[in-house]
Amino acid sequence: MSQTQPGACLFCRIARGEIPSRKAYEDDEVIVFHDIHPAAPVHLLIVPKRHIDSLIDAQDGDQALLGKMLVLAPRLAREQGATDGFRLVVNNGHGGGQEVFHLHLHVLGGPRPWRSMSTGR
Ligand code: AMP
Ligand code: ZN
Repeated sequence: MSQTQPGACLFCRIARGEIPSRKAYEDDEVIVFHDIHPAAPVHLLIVPKRHIDSLIDAQDGDQALLGKMLVLAPRLAREQGATDGFRLVVNNGHGGGQEVFHLHLHVLGGPRPWRSMSTGR
C-alpha cells in the first residue's frame, strides 16, 4: 500500500523536476541525485522515475529496471569519486528503516569516517 499519493511523493516530485536536487545522472527511467543529508563523502540515491514503494512491492516486471539500477551503481560511485569501492544500502518498510516510501538505492563511498545511517528505530 502506498504511504503517500504517488503524485505527492517526494522522490516523484524530484523526478519530475518540481523539487530541486543535485543530480548526478538521469535517463528516461532513472534519476540519481546526491542525498541531502550525506552519510559519507559520496552518498547518491538511485531512484526509478516510476513510483514503486519499496522492494517489498517490486514485481517480476521490474527486473530489468532493478538490474539497470544495480549496474549503474559502480559506474556512478566511481564517477563521483568513490574509487576504492562503495556500499549499497536499501531500506525496505518501516522495520527496515525506510523513511521515504519510493524505492531507492543508497550508494555510499569515499574516505572514512562515515556517519551512521541507523535511524534509531
Ligand atoms: P531511507 O531511510 O532509505 O528512506 O532514506 C531516505 C533518504 O532520503 C535519507 O538519506 C534522506 O537524507 C534523503 N532525502 C530526504 N529528502 C531529500 C531530498 N529532498 N533530496 C535528497 N535526499 C533527500
Ligand atoms: Zn514516488
